[in-house]
Formats: sequence, C-alpha cells, structure tokens
Amino acid sequence: MKACVLHAPKDLRLEDEDVGAPGPGEVIVQIGAGGICGSDLHYYFHGGFGAVRLREKMVLGHEVAGSVAAIGPGVTRVKAGDQVAVNPSRPCGQCKYCLAGKPNHCLNMQFYGSAMPFPHIQGAFRQALRAKESQCELAPVVSVGEAAFAEPLSCGLHAIERAGNLAGRRVLVAGAGPIGALAVAAARNAGAAEIVATDIAAAPLSVVAKMGADRVIDVSKDGDALADYRADKGQFDVMIEASGSDKALRAGLDVVRPQGVIVQMGLGGGEATLPLNLLVAKELELRGTFRFHPEFARAAQLIAARRIDVRPLLTETIPFTEFERAFALAADRGKAIKVQLAFQ
Ligand SMILES: [Zn+2]
Ligand SMILES: [Zn+2]
Repeated sequence: MKACVLHAPKDLRLEDEDVGAPGPGEVIVQIGAGGICGSDLHYYFHGGFGAVRLREKMVLGHEVAGSVAAIGPGVTRVKAGDQVAVNPSRPCGQCKYCLAGKPNHCLNMQFYGSAMPFPHIQGAFRQALRAKESQCELAPVVSVGEAAFAEPLSCGLHAIERAGNLAGRRVLVAGAGPIGALAVAAARNAGAAEIVATDIAAAPLSVVAKMGADRVIDVSKDGDALADYRADKGQFDVMIEASGSDKALRAGLDVVRPQGVIVQMGLGGGEATLPLNLLVAKELELRGTFRFHPEFARAAQLIAARRIDVRPLLTETIPFTEFERAFALAADRGKAIKVQLAFQ
C-alpha cells in the first residue's frame, strides 16, 4: 500500500505503508478518491501557508472516500464493502471546547494532513487508511468521487450555520471556487431566496451557476457590477466571503444591509484593511467560520441522496501515481475547480 508523503515543497514521494489490522472500533478503508484542497496545494508548492510550515514529512490529504475493507471488534455501523466518506476531523472529545459542543475548536484536534500541530497530523492520501468507525459516514449509490466531496461540503454547511437562518434571505457569495460553489449549494439547500455569486474568472462562474446561483457576476469585467445592490444601504442580508480577496470583502460592506452578516471563509493573503466606519455605522456583523464537525454526516447524506449534486465541480480524476500533473492542474484556476486523485 502506497501513501503520498510530502518531504519538502514539490518533493512528494509514494512510499510503502502498512496500515496494520483494525483494532476495536476501527476499520480499514480502501481509499477510492481524494480531493486536492487549497491547503494541500499550499503544502505541495510552498511548504505551508502563513505561520503553518512543514517541519517533518507528512502524508497529504483530507477529502477522501472509499470502501470498507475490514472491520475491527465491536464495529456495527459499517461492514466490509460499504462505501463511506471519511471524516478527517478528529477532536479529542475531552477538552473544554469539545465538552461545550464546539469540537471544531478542539485543543487537541487531529485533523488529517495538517502541519498546524507538531508532530504533524498525517493525512489520508493513501491506498488504505485505518480509521475509527465513528469517522465513517455511509455514502452509497453515488460515485466514490462524489462521496469525497463530503469534507468540502461540510465547510460550506458550517459557514451557512454561522450565517444564521437563510430561509427567504438574499445572499451574496464572493468567490466561486469549490468552497464558494459548495457554500452556494448549501445556501440553496437552506432556503435562500436569491443567491448572487461573484468571481474574477469565467470558468468557475459557469460552474457555480449549476450549483444553484441565480445570478453570476464577473467582477473583473465590470468593477462596478454590484452598484445596483448598494441601494438603500445594501440589498443583501448575508454575504459569504469565499475568495479571500480584501477587495471582495470591501465591496461586500457596501451591498450588505444594515445589521447584515458577513461570513469570512477565505484567507487570501491573511490580512485585510477595512473601513471601520461602514462596519460601525451599518452595524454589520463580521463572522469567521472554521472547519466543521457535526455537519459531516449531513454532507454525506445530502451527497448520497443527490439533494446536493456535486458532479459539476469535479474537473478530472487522475491516478495518484500522476500526482505532479494532478497538483499542477488543481492549481490552475482557469481550468480546474476540483481535481481528485484515484487510489485504486
Ligand atoms: Zn479541504
Ligand atoms: Zn477536544
């Protein structure tokens, strides 16, 4: 069994790994598909992002699905052959945030493929993975590639959760990459009345239209395209900022109505300058959103039932042995939304 082990920027090696036998409550999952995420790209090309740096070798990947190959003692929810999405979020269950029902803020989080803690948390781009039964969510019928969207969809669902009740609301989503597109799908699913999506590239905008956006706007073509939405101090109840561009965030302050909510998903360069007079005078609420936890089970269900159809987002599936081509394509925003590796 091989795993994708990153030793340094652009030094990724396929190394042999032995997953061992499943212990009590554990399963062995034969990984079918793994989506390449923005963080994987940052590690692969730059060795990290911000203060998070690769300090030892690490298996990449956290967006995976596969089929159960073997189960350990006491496992009852899944059986051999079941197709499952694997939740990469592994909170400790014992710290003060876990006990307060906020496991995404766990003080001892073991999230797959993360160089935030040291030693790093090894990831899931591997042919076989030993996981806890509780991480596995059944995702039958659909393709294994679709099931592997459960993780990024969970991020979208959590962002929507942070936004509050969206039923009947007008929502602006800035940034139409995979995260923005899945936030659009999640907002639609949550009953938003109108969703407008913006981006600076045509390809992602055509995809996000298929994911439930009522209107898409290329803000690179017309910098003032949102002008109409500035009327009466702003027309949107909620903005989901998924681009990480401070220009996009700045534009949102003009078009979100007083006491509206802005949920920041994108990280961009890590810093932004904002006109505080707008935040203050319009009583806007700027909220962060970080990962997810309970949303994962719902994401797997929504995908398995195709209540959210993720297929328009999948650009290409590439054998994991051709990882160089896969990472290069995934980094090309003009061509790719989501690239997945195939592990079998
Ligand atoms: Zn991801
Ligand atoms: Zn915890």
